[in-house]
Amino acid sequence: MLLKDTPVTTDKLLSVQDLRVHFHTLRGIVHALEGVSFHLNRQETLGLAGETGCGKSVTARSVLRLIDPPGRIVSGRIIFEDRDILTLDDTAVRAIRGGEISMIMQEPKMSLNPVIRVGDQVAEALLIHDTSLNRSSARTQAEEMLTQMGIPEAHRTSRRYPHELSGGMAQRIMIAMMLVTRPKLLIADEPTSALDVTIQAQILALMDKLVQDIRTSVLMITHDLGVMAETCDRVAVMYAGNIVEMGAVRSVLKDPQHPYTQGLLKTVPDKANPDHPLYAIKGNVPSLLQPQNHCRFSDRCEYAMARCSREIPPVYQMTDDHEAACFLHDGQSISSGGKQVDLMNP
Ligand code: SF4
Repeated sequence: MLLKDTPVTTDKLLSVQDLRVHFHTLRGIVHALEGVSFHLNRQETLGLAGETGCGKSVTARSVLRLIDPPGRIVSGRIIFEDRDILTLDDTAVRAIRGGEISMIMQEPKMSLNPVIRVGDQVAEALLIHDTSLNRSSARTQAEEMLTQMGIPEAHRTSRRYPHELSGGMAQRIMIAMMLVTRPKLLIADEPTSALDVTIQAQILALMDKLVQDIRTSVLMITHDLGVMAETCDRVAVMYAGNIVEMGAVRSVLKDPQHPYTQGLLKTVPDKANPDHPLYAIKGNVPSLLQPQNHCRFSDRCEYAMARCSREIPPVYQMTDDHEAACFLHDGQSISSGGKQVDLMNP
């Protein structure tokens, strides 16, 4: 696995604190997020990893306050620069969406308007957020952005409709549309998972270059640990509505400290031994209908102890930039909302 190796800034752009999101369904309350906390520095790429249903996309959508009923953000803070997104009025949040924070969805053709030429859609993104711009300059800037996204004959392509484009080309348009306003934060929700591997690599490389050129921070959601290794500076591993491990990408992927992360890494096929049987973490993700009152991984964990099914593990700090929520690290200092408590010298 190739690992990204970049120096990381420490200037916080986004800070999510103790975020709880519930969905009120006919079967009961689904506790989708149970106290998620993380931060993202300027010009940094943070990856959110984990199985389907662990809360990655709910976390991302919460940042833009895009949780629709029956979902509800119950508590927490989402500090973007110096504003708490959860306390802003709707007009202020709309101004942030697409301007300061953009989001790339998994399926580009579902997000592009089928009856508007793609170039006009990219230009429209500019016009919404810069009222001083005229349509002709917006179109020119849109075509420049299409060229930067590696789209051949940008002028001709910009006059096409989404159904005339391949999946890879549509995703390039989508990325151009999200980056043309030069957002401070880009949320990329499985941006290439619907594409084949070669196109995926090209698009990730182009996106990575563009993100660095315009100095944008990225919250990258992916279940693909290879993509995570190559594109992220830090990673947060989620399980059943919690972050269970977080740290520098090299540290987490080379020296995972939570049994779930260790299992997740074992599921990556070994290219050197193609005949080796694939590993699967035993058991299933638990129901989120019950509020959390113990380690949610306890039914599947080979190291589970008695206390694991009685108590919620705190987050233990292994190094300055590596932490895990697991009782196996009892004796290390506890990280509590940025405040560290040394258990030996409380
Ligand atoms: Fe396993 Fe216990 Fe750690 Fe949970 S707290 S991951 S059950 S050892």
